[in-house]
Amino acid sequence: MPGGVSSPVRSFSAVGGTPPFIVSATGCRMTDAEGKSYIDYVGSYGPLIAGHAHPKVVAAITTAAANGTCYGAPTPCEVDLAELILSAFPAVADGMIRFVNSGTEAVMSALRLARAATGRTHVVKCIGCYHGHVDGLLAQAGSGLLTLSDGARASEPSSAGVPAELVRTTLLVPYNDLHAAEALFGAHGRDIACFAVEPIAGNMGLIEPAPGYLAGLRRLCDQYGALLLFDEVMTGFRVAWGGAQTLYGVRPDITTLGKVIGGGVPVGAYMAPGHLMKQIAPLGPVYQAGTLSGNPLAMAAGLATLGIMREAGAYEALAGVTGSLAEGLRAVAAETGTAITVNHVCGMITPFFSAGPVDTYPAATASDTRRFASVFHRLLAGGVNVPPSQFEAWFPSLAHTPADIAETVGTFRAALTATRP
Ligand code: PLP
Repeated sequence: MPGGVSSPVRSFSAVGGTPPFIVSATGCRMTDAEGKSYIDYVGSYGPLIAGHAHPKVVAAITTAAANGTCYGAPTPCEVDLAELILSAFPAVADGMIRFVNSGTEAVMSALRLARAATGRTHVVKCIGCYHGHVDGLLAQAGSGLLTLSDGARASEPSSAGVPAELVRTTLLVPYNDLHAAEALFGAHGRDIACFAVEPIAGNMGLIEPAPGYLAGLRRLCDQYGALLLFDEVMTGFRVAWGGAQTLYGVRPDITTLGKVIGGGVPVGAYMAPGHLMKQIAPLGPVYQAGTLSGNPLAMAAGLATLGIMREAGAYEALAGVTGSLAEGLRAVAAETGTAITVNHVCGMITPFFSAGPVDTYPAATASDTRRFASVFHRLLAGGVNVPPSQFEAWFPSLAHTPADIAETVGTFRAALTATRP
């Protein structure tokens, strides 16, 4: 296994060392092969909003598995999950959804749909955003590509094996810069099939959209006849019931989902109003298929997870957990005289080792990654598991109690003190 991992973000390349090998997890805690326990803020990079091995999710998966893991035929639970998801996104009126197996697949399929629907070739992406390992979007990409590389120059692939021809139809703009987007549309507007964006950037560390940014993108797409694609693989059902588009009140044309809607089992989905989705096979000419798509295990885990999040007070509780973690981290940063900027929304948080503000990609990449690495190792040794990169979000869950947050903040204080320059 290259690097000993099934996904590069799990390696410790950016911070040094070898990751613990995990054998079990429950609630907010996980245990490694040597019996050491950790409070976990990786949460499998987003899906585990209710915590590890939530009894309702485990029961749903167990029942589904006993009834057969997949059939290659439509199922009632697909319909239930489709209806529940669509009901949560009022912007997708008359909407339709297609389930796939990963966020990458969702975005890849959504781009194909956008190109087919507009008859145009170009796709805009923001520098530092990550939309999965889709060939054409591996240009100035965030997440593991940002963590592991020095970054490619504009319009060059950030991965070997991606032909330059493929990223030539990818246009890059800085995230949170509406003027740059306006200029780009002014120059290439008639070629642009879609503007793809993480409505809240999570893959350069967490950066919220500037006031008016998403609405401005909506206006530009309308003006130039392009489609607006919100990649809510990370934010969908995490930051709010109905995702970031509900939180900020901006309606995209196409939405991609993943992570939470599969409750920890592989899943992805893309959805849009019916007039667009009717272009997908078998109704229309855009081909997209999948042997295991919409498989009963993922549908059952997703339904159980969304059932938990639908309960009254769930998002308030998650926002409370995230807010108290943010407050605690800020307090110990101030106490120890450490320059840290904590960005957070409900269910997502990144402490940047920077005096801030961190509201752009250059501001994120100006963070002190060496200090991050040394604090990371102290946290891990102290039993707190966070992503091994400055440029990822941490994912608190409903399973994190005030005592877990207090313990985390105490370990963070000790880590900052021990690594003080
Ligand atoms: N889009 C966004 C915003 C993501 O954060 C990710 C993964 O982290 C993806 C797409 C890709 O999803 P997957 O890893 O399931 O392919």
